[in-house]
Amino acid sequence: MKQIECSFEAEVLAAVLQSRWPERVDAELREHVKGCAVCGDVAAVAGAIESAREETVAYAPTSLPNSGQVWWKAQMRARREAVEAAGRPITAVQIAAFACAMALMGACIGATSSWFQAGLKWVSGEVAAFDPKALLPYATGMIAAHGLLVACMVAMVFVVPVAVYLAIGKD
Ligand SMILES: [Zn+2]
Repeated sequence: MKQIECSFEAEVLAAVLQSRWPERVDAELREHVKGCAVCGDVAAVAGAIESAREETVAYAPTSLPNSGQVWWKAQMRARREAVEAAGRPITAVQIAAFACAMALMGACIGATSSWFQAGLKWVSGEVAAFDPKALLPYATGMIAAHGLLVACMVAMVFVVPVAVYLAIGKD
């Protein structure tokens, strides 16, 4: 009866897959494979699969640029489409909205510039003598004293981008 299994089979397979076969395995195992039909077959088949795989890996660099080119072309097309979308004619409404936003921003800076300067001085003074516990009363006092400044800051941070976004997004 022909032997179909061998306890060394897995070991031989692992050695081949890890590229240890036949040079870097125990002499005992090599001797066993010579005399064992099962392990001989495993070594031969696994070795053939391994060399085929290595050939695939060796040829891979020539096939890689192809998939890379496909990816690159897709990227280029996406970029071209984005440029075309961005290059659509700017309407008078968009220009007017942008001008309004800029005027609002300029007005805010103009109306609060002295307070802004004072605020900057206050901040630099606070940073020089920083005391976390004293910060909160100062901050609330600052907000109470400079309500307009805070309102304008909020307007600049939130209202202007939203206005610009709505104007440009509307096509
Ligand atoms: Zn065996």
